[in-house]
Amino acid sequence: MDEEHPMDEEHPMDEEHPMDEEHYATEYPVPDIAPYRRGNTGIDYVHTFDSGRAGPHVMINALTHGNEVCGAYAVDLLFRWETRPARGKLTLSFANVDAFARFSVERPADTRWVDEDFNRVWTDDKLDGPRASSELARARALRPALAAADLLFDLHSMHLPAPAVTIAGPHPKGRELARRLGLPAFVISDSGHASGARMRDYRGFGDPASPKNALLVECGQHGEAAAAQTALDASLAFLRESGIMADAFFAAHPAPAPMPQQFIQVTNAVTIRTGRFEFAQRFTGMERIARAGTVIAHDGGEPVATPYDDCILVMPAPGRYVRPGLTAVRLGRIIGEGETT
Ligand SMILES: [Zn+2]
Repeated sequence: MDEEHPMDEEHPMDEEHPMDEEHYATEYPVPDIAPYRRGNTGIDYVHTFDSGRAGPHVMINALTHGNEVCGAYAVDLLFRWETRPARGKLTLSFANVDAFARFSVERPADTRWVDEDFNRVWTDDKLDGPRASSELARARALRPALAAADLLFDLHSMHLPAPAVTIAGPHPKGRELARRLGLPAFVISDSGHASGARMRDYRGFGDPASPKNALLVECGQHGEAAAAQTALDASLAFLRESGIMADAFFAAHPAPAPMPQQFIQVTNAVTIRTGRFEFAQRFTGMERIARAGTVIAHDGGEPVATPYDDCILVMPAPGRYVRPGLTAVRLGRIIGEGETT
């Protein structure tokens, strides 16, 4: 997931949220990615397949967050299927492999990262800067692969059980690509996070004048089988729309039919101000609140209300991440797919 939630240092049981997002089942096989360590690019866990013919360079990436295993499930299958482009190039990669190395199905909510959020370091200032961390080292190693890619697909999942969403970024080109994929059902436009830039917004991906394009997909709750299926389906749709694959590939591995989609513009974030923040009910994400002024939470006793009709709650924070200074939830407005904001 891609919200502003630091990883717990000690991971105590949360008395107020005993259920839960901490101890869920992982319903699909966790892949062994060790066979992919030795890449053919000079970067561990990064493989590029070159058709030798003109065409875009497409990159499908998993494990930007080490506990978001559904993407690794999908990329592992693409490797096993010997997915090779007929035009252009295909790069398959695993990003935060050091965090994933610590993953266990017994404690699946841990291992999001080692030192910091891998998906907040993607500016040249940070990458060229003097600071060191596990994630910065990996991002610096991966940077040439990102620089070479024309189309990036970054696979994520979420703490709470909610419908899958595409994070299309701030520009129309992201929404247009998400519309062409035809899934998942929700497409969110946003401008990222104040705490740092995402990989999907790096350089040309985040430049409206560049032909480069990127999507981040939140495939569902981390452990649910449906998230693994969505990661695979969305990757197949992405490959189809990229145009690099021969038709025969999709005869063997059909890309899913398009589904109706709803496009949402994030308008603001609800920042937690006090140690007494409580949602009015247990939201998990993508709830549509019909009436402006509906109280969705209290913060230090003060009501937090929706600012407009048909307000969408985008990825509310689970209990362990409800702390002052963090984002409790982002609010979104339904827009037409071609609308700019
Ligand atoms: Zn994520």
